[in-house]
Amino acid sequence: ASAEAAIVVIGTGLAGYGLVRELRKYDKDSPIIMISADDGRAYSKPMLSTGFTKNMDADALTQKDAGTMGEDLNASVWTSTKVTAINTAAQTITIGDKATQIHYKKLVLALGADVIRPPIKGNALEYVYSVNDLLDYDDFRTAVAKNNVKKVCIIGGGLIGCEFTNDLLNGGIATETVDPLGYCIPTLLPEAAGKAVQAGLEAQGAKFHFGPLVTEVNKTGDALTVSLNNGETISCDLVLSAVGVRPQIALAQEAGITTNRGIVTNRLLETNAPNVYAMGDCAEVAGHVLVYVAPLMAQARALAKTLTGEATEVSYPAMPVTIKVPACPVTVSPAPRDAEGSWEIEQDGINVVARFIDRNGDLLGFALTGDGTKQKMALQKLLPAIMP
Ligand code: FAD
Repeated sequence: ASAEAAIVVIGTGLAGYGLVRELRKYDKDSPIIMISADDGRAYSKPMLSTGFTKNMDADALTQKDAGTMGEDLNASVWTSTKVTAINTAAQTITIGDKATQIHYKKLVLALGADVIRPPIKGNALEYVYSVNDLLDYDDFRTAVAKNNVKKVCIIGGGLIGCEFTNDLLNGGIATETVDPLGYCIPTLLPEAAGKAVQAGLEAQGAKFHFGPLVTEVNKTGDALTVSLNNGETISCDLVLSAVGVRPQIALAQEAGITTNRGIVTNRLLETNAPNVYAMGDCAEVAGHVLVYVAPLMAQARALAKTLTGEATEVSYPAMPVTIKVPACPVTVSPAPRDAEGSWEIEQDGINVVARFIDRNGDLLGFALTGDGTKQKMALQKLLPAIMP
């Protein structure tokens, strides 16, 4: 079997759908095929870590099903369809095991990021969940209900781990959260801000284990036990792994498309293969891997123009990220990866204003917690653009 389309988009996350929504502002008719390995429902992924707070299941978080999206976007949406290969010379992709080929004039990779799975042993790995899409979320909620879950052990105290810690607490489920580093959200926040988040969550009943790694998850009778490499054990009803994500690069790599941390593109979002573009969590755009919504929206706006004939480079302003930990609100604007400088910190209880300042006294980033988040607008104005 074979098919063809002017534009083929692999991925129906916020990146894929966001792009086609923008593109239809300029071009109502060019045939577009969108392909998703999942069920193609449109949803806002950031809401996945607010579902217990708001008491919304996967259906409630669904904005539109794939069929409705296809009608709205005048696109053909192929669901439960995995792309297994790209032939960049012939400009075709292969789907499924039946070797169906689709010919593209332009191909957009909006493949997202894979969850990192920590190496854990034991006899109960089926009780270890991760939530990185709506289907995962459905599975996790079903397991919480089915196992009458009272306590979840969360692996990872980073952005996603802390959001789920707060969300589960809000849903009346106890938490114990494990992270090998020393405080909450350690890769984005300075210690004072991370400790403020910890204090805010502990005041709501969270329990943290900082320092150890999880080594095993075992079940004996009804008891689920998580073992740590410092000899401690945690008893719980379910485990949620949230140790981070990495851009999905395998499909591109196998096709000979240049990859690094993500699928490498220039500011036009072009990969090194002719007529192949990448965006969203899978992309490394001019050296930046930013797995957040604001960058992918900026990409969608630029790429929609590029694909409809007006070559447009993507620009990134400063894009602070709001972390959904209502127990201690957090807004962070990380300094560039290779930036040199130091943190200047003002603190009053869980209210922290931390400025990352370079040698010339210029503000390169900030981390704000509690009432400190009120400074977001003022400080954001002082930040340089990430990519002017
Ligand atoms: P995805 O939504 O992962 O979409 C990838 C698509 O590619 C899917 O449709 C998948 O089926 C498809 N696909 C992949 N491989 C194939 C293949 N081989 N064949 C066919 N289809 C394929 N960001 C923020 O800015 N603010 C927040 O508050 C925030 N909160 C978050 C909370 C959680 C719990 C999580 C997990 C993330 C959060 N993020 C947040 C990050 C943000 O949600 C992501 O950056 C964004 O959703 C990524 O969208 P995407 O379209 O690039 O990827």
